[in-house]
Amino acid sequence: MIHEVIPVGPLQCNCSIIGDETTREAMVIDPGDEIELILAFLQKHNLQVKQIVITHAHIDHVGGAMKLRAATGAPILLNQNDYDLLKMLDVQAAWLGMATPGDVEIDRSVTTGETVSAGSHTAQILHTPGHTEGSICLYFEPEKRLIAGDTLFAGSIGRTDLPGGSMQKIMRSLHNTVLSLPDDTVVIPGHGELTTVGDERESNPFLVKR
Ligand SMILES: [Zn+2]
Repeated sequence: MIHEVIPVGPLQCNCSIIGDETTREAMVIDPGDEIELILAFLQKHNLQVKQIVITHAHIDHVGGAMKLRAATGAPILLNQNDYDLLKMLDVQAAWLGMATPGDVEIDRSVTTGETVSAGSHTAQILHTPGHTEGSICLYFEPEKRLIAGDTLFAGSIGRTDLPGGSMQKIMRSLHNTVLSLPDDTVVIPGHGELTTVGDERESNPFLVKR
């Protein structure tokens, strides 16, 4: 599996490119910004984007989606519980002092029980509300990888004080969904360093049982 993690934009959102070396099919997760850079990586690996998957509708994760769709023709996937938040992109831009990316059109909602694929690499969608109502994680079980969006970070968890956030829901998502995965699952958070489920189970101050 080809997997590039590319921090993009002023908030350094971890954009993932997942590609199949044989079919050259790819998915891009969270193309928040710097679409030219993402396209350069796609070209370097000779990949064709089949899906654009958004872990949640915060501007730093979704801001470049329309530009990438225009360049690749790939559909944009987001959980429908974040559609309201997506209508607030101009408000989000104002909070951060960023330019508004304009309207983002979603082609399809995805939720728990569904999968998305790039060639032979398939991710299970896990709906993990809490950071936002429509937050999802992508779980590549055979490859032991979890793209966690802003639900889990190395040593921390997603903030819940923004619209749609809920501390109760994120704790439920973390304990019932994320921590149900094997310890050796590599976690690619929405920002910052990679970690594993086992490391976070053991040492994340928000998750350690006292
Ligand atoms: Zn976020």
